[in-house]
Amino acid sequence: AKADGRNCTRFFEPALGREIEARLGMSNQLRRALAERELYLVYQPQYSLSTHQLTGIEALVRWRDAHGHLYMPSEFIPIAEQHGLIGRLGEYVLNEALAQLAAWRAASLPLVAVSVNVAPQQFASGDFVSTVLECLARHQIEPHWLELEITENSLVQNASRTLAQLQTLRSYGIRIAIDDFGTGYSSLSYLDTYEIDRLKIDRSFVSELETRTSRAGIVRGVIMLAKGLGYGVVAEGVETTGQLAMLRASGCGYAQGYLFSKPLLPDQIVPLLRAPFRS
Ligand code: C2E
Ligand code: CA
Ligand code: CA
Ligand code: CA
Repeated sequence: AKADGRNCTRFFEPALGREIEARLGMSNQLRRALAERELYLVYQPQYSLSTHQLTGIEALVRWRDAHGHLYMPSEFIPIAEQHGLIGRLGEYVLNEALAQLAAWRAASLPLVAVSVNVAPQQFASGDFVSTVLECLARHQIEPHWLELEITENSLVQNASRTLAQLQTLRSYGIRIAIDDFGTGYSSLSYLDTYEIDRLKIDRSFVSELETRTSRAGIVRGVIMLAKGLGYGVVAEGVETTGQLAMLRASGCGYAQGYLFSKPLLPDQIVPLLRAPFRS
């Protein structure tokens, strides 16, 4: 066993070294990318299932480097989290999203709410609330145009501080959604402890709606639970008309997904702001 262990060590060490080096290299690149503004946002439309109206857009971050290579958030968000860059990245995203609303307003376009993803580390930082309020003030955007998407993992960290933070944000009119609902490490008891506005059902539940009866049961149950508590429900990752029909029959209020639209560049959102009803 000892010999095996040594062999393993010898085999893995150089690879592990390269892995760490690659990550360090990427974190330095990311730090530079933030300064050089290589990060940008795309926006995925959200629709009301009752009125067929565009009710919001979710901001999703992208990174195109100087060589034209496009990185997806699954590649660089974890690196930002590990190398202490997630606070700056989060602030960058928030600022871009609200600057975009301000630009549309300046062009006399009707606004829709923007949903911004918030990482647990970012939510836990002491100056999160003031950062959000400052950013809204900087762009003169009323708080009700902003929805923060936080995960269940943000709620389990420091219960009393989380409670106070959510109360403060909501007292200003900022809306709170629980993202990736059903996939985190938390109990149902937080659902009536914290003040929130909407639950977002994770794509992993939606994608199996038609193929796994048990999943359909869970989704129906979550929608009933949310309604009982007075929360809205957004289904994410809706790709088929069959999924849409099941969600609608279960009373789901809002949906987003490739069936409606992929995430779009700001210029592609403009026609949707002008004509927000789907046929
Ligand atoms: P998420 O918050 O669950 O966002 C939904 C993801 O599903 C997005 O991937 C979106 O492009 C994708 N998607 C939407 N509709 C469909 C569909 O119908 N089918 C399929 N297959 N996929 C769909 P994306 O943009 O790659 O983002 C991945 C994750 O990265 C997000 O998951 C979110 O957790 C994180 N993320 C994205 N932008 C930010 C950000 O600005 N800040 C933070 N902290 N995290 C972000
Ligand atoms: Ca999200
Ligand atoms: Ca998420
Ligand atoms: Ca998700």
